[in-house]
Amino acid sequence: MDLKPTAQDEAFRAEIADWMHRHLSGEFAPLKYRGGPGDEEAWPELRKAWEQELARGGWTCVGWPQAHGGRGLSIEQQVIFHEEYARAGGPGRMGHIGEGLLGPTLIAYGTPDQRARFLPGIVAGTTYWAQGYSEPSAGSDLANVQTKCWQEADGSWRVKGQKVWTSLAHESDWIFVLARSEPGSVGRHGLTFLLMPLDQPGIEIRPIRQLSGSCEFNEVFFDAAVAKADDVVGAPGDGWKVAMGLLAVERGVSTLGQQMHFAHELELVIKAAKASGLAGDALIRDRIARAWSGLRVMRYNALRMLAGDSHGMSLGREALIYKYYWSNWHRDLGELAMDVLGPLGDVPSDDIDVLRLQQVYLFSRADTIYGGTNEIQLNLIAERGLGMPREARG
Ligand SMILES: Cc1cc2nc3c(=O)[nH]c(=O)nc-3n(C[C@H](O)[C@H](O)[C@H](O)COP(=O)(O)OP(=O)(O)OC[C@H]3O[C@@H](n4cnc5c(N)ncnc54)[C@H](O)[C@@H]3O)c2cc1C
Repeated sequence: MDLKPTAQDEAFRAEIADWMHRHLSGEFAPLKYRGGPGDEEAWPELRKAWEQELARGGWTCVGWPQAHGGRGLSIEQQVIFHEEYARAGGPGRMGHIGEGLLGPTLIAYGTPDQRARFLPGIVAGTTYWAQGYSEPSAGSDLANVQTKCWQEADGSWRVKGQKVWTSLAHESDWIFVLARSEPGSVGRHGLTFLLMPLDQPGIEIRPIRQLSGSCEFNEVFFDAAVAKADDVVGAPGDGWKVAMGLLAVERGVSTLGQQMHFAHELELVIKAAKASGLAGDALIRDRIARAWSGLRVMRYNALRMLAGDSHGMSLGREALIYKYYWSNWHRDLGELAMDVLGPLGDVPSDDIDVLRLQQVYLFSRADTIYGGTNEIQLNLIAERGLGMPREARG
């Protein structure tokens, strides 16, 4: 990847910055820098309206092929989009699960009918999706999924079981679910990937209030809930392949935008350090400088990782270190924020900058868990990256 921007890149960057400046104003002005991790309860309805505003400007699903309603942007252009979005204080995206996970999966594994029915609502910002993978005994070990599904005589599917940690299910319209369709099957075999409307009698959503005070995720209970016959993705029993294909896109190009959010948070830490006088403290200065350097390391690794991936489905070995690196970096930033705030960090605050740093600290405790825990990431690096023997499994 050539890192020197072309005149065309610069013009594109200016176009997005200008669009964001004009549109993230008026009724949407309160959304600036809001709705990110730990701040999910900030105006969800207004953020959905914002998704539709983005869609009207053609700024949803920017990396999807044009044939599927996207903008067909190159990796370089997507990076620019995500960076400028975050730089302008673009709010946490309500549609990221549909846009970033399900959409690319349907493009790769869905039927033409499924694409025609589900992709337009994602592009338009009118349909919101949740991810139903994890269960009480199947988080890191997804092959242990116990939620069952079976087919009725009319071809429809019924689902029974429980999912947990289901992000934004309480704000979503649909959920994709990994369930066991072959009784007695174990591990990766006999699993099916289903699309289900959340608003139906057999589904109960119970929000879980988190340490940060907000409800980001939920328990979701299925009691003979229905999925239509046409809403199985891939072949019944072959859900593992689809589920893993989806996970491969979980960390794609939007990571560059995430880094701009991190950069903003680091700026807040620096501001707080200046305000408290701790900017003169040698140890704090050292930690801030390390945080800044870490951000640069992340940026160049992300560019290196994306340079090898033209379709968003097959990131190379470079991607293996990314999750481990950013999640630990972010957790350290949360701790630094608390040390910089001192006693101010311990009490509820109306100051939005202080509140944001408190949220960073509390939510970043989860960064090393979701999307693959630290221990699992280290296993992946050892086995897939370094070719070490696979760990013994019981
Ligand atoms: C904020 C947040 C949002 C989430 N959103 C979603 C969502 O939308 N949809 C969804 O499906 N899930 C979601 N999750 C769930 C998330 O994917 C799981 O928490 C994660 O996969 C870990 O699984 P677990 O919590 O069951 O922990 P476990 O798998 O029970 O792990 C417990 C501990 O054991 C360690 N461990 C387990 N196996 C090994 C091993 N083989 N080697 C070494 N150590 C091991 C783990 O690293 C961890 O430290 C979310 C989680 C969080 C925190």
